[in-house]
Amino acid sequence: MKYLLVSGGVISGVGKGIIASSAGLLLKTMGLKVSSIKIDPYINVDAGTMNPREHGEVYVLDDGGEVDLDLGNYERYLNITLTRENNITLGKIFSKVIEQERRGDYLGKTVQVVPHVTGCIEEWIVRVAKLPVDDTKEEPDVCIIELGGTIGDIEGMPFVEALTELRRNCRREDFMQIHVSYIPVVHGEQKTKPTQMAIKSVRSAGLIPDLIACRCEHPLEKATTDKIARFCQVSNEHVLAVRDMPSTYQVPILLSEQNLVPLMTSTLQLKEVTIAPALQEKGMHIWNTWRDLTMGLQNLHEVVEIALVGKYLEQPDSYLSVTKSLQHAAMRCKRKLVIKYVDAEHLEKSANKTDPATFFKAWHDVSTASGILVPGGFGGRGTEGMIGAANWARENKKPYLGICLGMQIAVIEFARTMCNIPTPQASSFEFDDADEDRVIISMPEHHPGVLGGTMRLGRRPTLWQPNTEWSKLRALYGLQNESIDERHRHRYEVNPKYIDQLQDQGLTFIGKDETGVRMEVIELKDHPWFVGVQFHPEYLSRVLEPSKPYLGFIAAAAGLLGKITKNEAIVPQVNGVV
Ligand code: GLN
Repeated sequence: MKYLLVSGGVISGVGKGIIASSAGLLLKTMGLKVSSIKIDPYINVDAGTMNPREHGEVYVLDDGGEVDLDLGNYERYLNITLTRENNITLGKIFSKVIEQERRGDYLGKTVQVVPHVTGCIEEWIVRVAKLPVDDTKEEPDVCIIELGGTIGDIEGMPFVEALTELRRNCRREDFMQIHVSYIPVVHGEQKTKPTQMAIKSVRSAGLIPDLIACRCEHPLEKATTDKIARFCQVSNEHVLAVRDMPSTYQVPILLSEQNLVPLMTSTLQLKEVTIAPALQEKGMHIWNTWRDLTMGLQNLHEVVEIALVGKYLEQPDSYLSVTKSLQHAAMRCKRKLVIKYVDAEHLEKSANKTDPATFFKAWHDVSTASGILVPGGFGGRGTEGMIGAANWARENKKPYLGICLGMQIAVIEFARTMCNIPTPQASSFEFDDADEDRVIISMPEHHPGVLGGTMRLGRRPTLWQPNTEWSKLRALYGLQNESIDERHRHRYEVNPKYIDQLQDQGLTFIGKDETGVRMEVIELKDHPWFVGVQFHPEYLSRVLEPSKPYLGFIAAAAGLLGKITKNEAIVPQVNGVV
């Protein structure tokens, strides 16, 4: 096993995950099998209980693991399927060490950070790195380890120590490190001192980076590279300049231009790895397709404008997989994606009284967009605004995509407007907690009283229902498939008692779970695109393979749905000229 450690210095949040995933993609294009482990030094066992407004989206895996959003980057860039064990937190490590101690595994010894906690971390990495993650079902050749935060953080210390031990236990050519640093610009001058300090501190912790990746707004000046190389005692070619790119999908291309492939090949002696010719060929194909798809992004002029009506808009990463899926779909449709973020609360009548300008601006964004998306969410705040947006989309025949909460919202709206079900019933238990009849009810088995890891989670099947061959969504998934698998994360569901009433008025439940009791997909027949899904298709969307509900939605918003379903090529229009 070869390890590529990606660590950070100076400040976090400058794109370590993107650099790590891009390096992984480059390895993959060589035909190598690549896995990844993300280390998050916080004490939460997983990201499931963390507020998206603070930490960004909670990413969900096939096995139901609720993990850091960086795992989404790896799955998307590398087209792999990770497990909950690929996200290591201090909480998971502590739980394991304490469980072992209680069992008496340490035979009376004093249990300490070094060697017991560090040993547990190292053993975890070595074990999980070997798990197959792609369709070869074989052990990966390289494992990327991303260490969250920056080196020097107190909670990260056990991990740094464990990684120094891992490095010591590996052959020199089996361990490589890229340290990601940040170059601030002060009075027009690129400053290298923070990078010099960061390299000093990573070295004094016992790790020796092979490459220094410098994040900066603009290209690095030659003098800056020279200075970093001299003061950090590396050669100039080991200093990578990772400037801001129009799209993060172009970072692999930027890194490839700076010779990252030969640098990794020589440091990790990748020539000694046997690569199956079929994988080599596949790798080359991935690279060509990736470049074709991402390099022309700046040249797309025709816009598709989407209103994303959400409730966690303070943190740009709250809807990361949703926005990525919209991008994947827009790239396929050769359209430039513009997302209008609309705070659902601003659409509510009360906002009109307190702040009419914001209210009208929000409604302007919704009513002028080509498509309306209501994503997942928790709790009642903002839901009346979302219901208003769903109502607008349905009545004005605007493409609508409801994800999880967004599907429940669409059902509530339909129940109120089309079935005349009174408002207290046409709502969700989640919004008012009243112990009465509701259109959206709770699933008792997923309400055990504790919050961590208890929702209906992970990859589960949805079965298409009889007489739904007319469905536009089904056409995209492929009519020959009787069922699909997507990832879930919810505690509430549509009340089976209301199904007939809703269907009689035209809201069709085209997909249900294998018991037939749980509603998974809704669609309106006489509408350009009105789809709601109880699952989260965004977790399985890939750059080269956009998620179907998102693809249909964007294609409908761009007026291209027919072309997409018929698999016709879409020629981008440049300034109105084909
Ligand atoms: N809060 C809703 C539920 O638990 C929707 C969840 C979601 O959107 N992820 O069912």
